[in-house]
Amino acid sequence: MRDRVVAYVALGANLGDAHSALQHALAALEKLPLTEVLACSLVYRTAALDDAPFGIDCKQPERPQSPDYLNAVAALQTRLSAPALLAALQGIETAAGRQRPYRNAPRTLDLDLLLYGSARIDSPSLTVPHPRMGQRAFVLVPLAEIAPQLVNPAQLAAVQDQRIEALGPL
Ligand code: AMP
Repeated sequence: MRDRVVAYVALGANLGDAHSALQHALAALEKLPLTEVLACSLVYRTAALDDAPFGIDCKQPERPQSPDYLNAVAALQTRLSAPALLAALQGIETAAGRQRPYRNAPRTLDLDLLLYGSARIDSPSLTVPHPRMGQRAFVLVPLAEIAPQLVNPAQLAAVQDQRIEALGPL
């Protein structure tokens, strides 16, 4: 059997009842096969960036300002492969009613695979570590909360102008 790997998943939502969407997502992560949730950060309220999570190259001026996001990061221990874990995350997004009307549209639920052990993966459907995680306070702050060894002070300093507020446990 495959060795256990510690993976980190970013959770985000900014449509409908975002808090409940994150709660359901965490419950769904807990039910994944061969997987255990080790920790989950607090929930953070964050400003929707112009480009929304993980996109910086897609300006759509006609788009209205997105509502604030709720974000968290969960640590998992899993025996799923990285592609199988990504597929499982996408299944949870779809079950939550996620639609993709355009790239980086507001979302009922967004799950991103940030880290999969120390693996470096660059395939057409999966890049790990997530390529833009180092530029986003909504990832670095909750990740630093549950895995301080993975985030250094210079990274946090670089995103300190991004609005982020801890709300409480999920
Ligand atoms: P999004 O619209 O933000 O949910 O982006 C999903 C797309 O990004 C899918 O086509 C994934 O295959 C791709 N992708 C690449 N790397 C990752 C990753 N580390 N985590 C989540 N999605 C990824």
